[in-house]
Amino acid sequence: MKSPLTFNRYQEAMGLGRLLGLHCEDCGASTVPPQAVCRECGGWNLTIKEIDKTGILRTFTVIRVAPEGMTPPYIVALVETGSGACLMGNLNGVDPDEAGMELMGREVSISTQVVKGDVYACGDIRSPVFTLA
Ligand SMILES: [Zn+2]
Repeated sequence: MKSPLTFNRYQEAMGLGRLLGLHCEDCGASTVPPQAVCRECGGWNLTIKEIDKTGILRTFTVIRVAPEGMTPPYIVALVETGSGACLMGNLNGVDPDEAGMELMGREVSISTQVVKGDVYACGDIRSPVFTLA
């Protein structure tokens, strides 16, 4: 069975300012970014769902040695959306040298940014980006 939400459709929606994920009709969990099965129960009974563009910062790290094409330092964060799905992306607007544990649990807004493709990618992609609310 194919997932109803392809990576290309996920990318196109982000380009239009929308964040799409998958809703599991069996257990009610949300999955984002798109996967072939529910992140919670492994089920295939999935429908497309609009994901809230706010969330809670659950954890982060400061990248000081960056992959090709990225300029360190920067912050990568894990954010729990209102639907329960967790997203990874950059946290903008916070000085990486000043980032500390006080960021945990802070509310963030979710938007997207274009990340330049490198030798391992098939071109530029859109990626979630967070800012403190
Ligand atoms: Zn499920």
